[in-house]
Amino acid sequence: MASTIAEKIRKKALELGFHKVGFAPAETLMHERDLLEKWLEKGFHGEMLWMAREPEKRTDPKLLFPQAKTVISVALNYYTPFQHEETPKKGKISRYAWGDDYHEILREKLQRLLEFIKTLDHEVEGKICVDTSPIMEKAWAVRAGLGWIGKHSNLITKDYGSWVFLGEILVNIEIEDETKIETDHCGSCTACINACPTGAIVEPYVVNSNLCISYATIELREPELPEKIKENLNGWLYGCDICQEVCPWNRFQKETEENRFHPRNNETSVSIDSILSMTHEQYIERFRRSPMKRAKLQGLKRNAEALKNSNQK
Ligand code: SF4
Repeated sequence: MASTIAEKIRKKALELGFHKVGFAPAETLMHERDLLEKWLEKGFHGEMLWMAREPEKRTDPKLLFPQAKTVISVALNYYTPFQHEETPKKGKISRYAWGDDYHEILREKLQRLLEFIKTLDHEVEGKICVDTSPIMEKAWAVRAGLGWIGKHSNLITKDYGSWVFLGEILVNIEIEDETKIETDHCGSCTACINACPTGAIVEPYVVNSNLCISYATIELREPELPEKIKENLNGWLYGCDICQEVCPWNRFQKETEENRFHPRNNETSVSIDSILSMTHEQYIERFRRSPMKRAKLQGLKRNAEALKNSNQK
């Protein structure tokens, strides 16, 4: 029996190294828009003002790509079996940022997937989205059957846990598939809520970014970290993995085949002093094509200073 277009795309996506792929009709995310607006009204986005811009565009794929009929959602496992080095001399880096910039890796694979889809149907046009586009990636992953959004607000897959990057291709064709929406398997667990040292998960499924160590150490552009963050850094220099580390679903984590996610320079934590004395030239050299560029040298130095001070207390 000839395979369907969905089966062919799925097979190719897995060949390209994606770990999960699914399809969802490109409808407006009305329920998610409602949740987003409530979250924004409370100011839980902190200084991430781009999140408040155009919530309509964020939730209506046709405003991003007018011909969109289907959203193809993919997940790429980035788990590598290394551990953080726990020493006061070093600051921990979030797992997602250990290796090369995932934007480039995902984009390259999605580009090849789109080219393949065009060979199946020459009329196909598509738009690739990787994190930087205003699209609700986790919501699409849920609709495409990849997993569910946990109480810590990350996407969880049953087979790889939450250590996955997400990407999408919006295409101008309808793709039929028997999508089975994954039910929420958090149940009565509250491990992530209890473990968060700053209480950033203010209620199940709702994160107040203003209290989140990851947000503060990566996105916040203030010269000083907020007191509550400084007091609870727990050794984090860039990002934070606490809520994911305690999640029982991450017992299903598996090693990725993508070597580019292995820690650069074998570093899962960075010397605090090396950051404090780093010149701009050294920063450019060390963090070229690394996701850690996001915090800028100024942000890394601010975080390193806060870690150094917390060690001296
Ligand atoms: S730690 Fe528990 S509550 Fe939190 S996301 Fe994982 S399963 Fe859900």
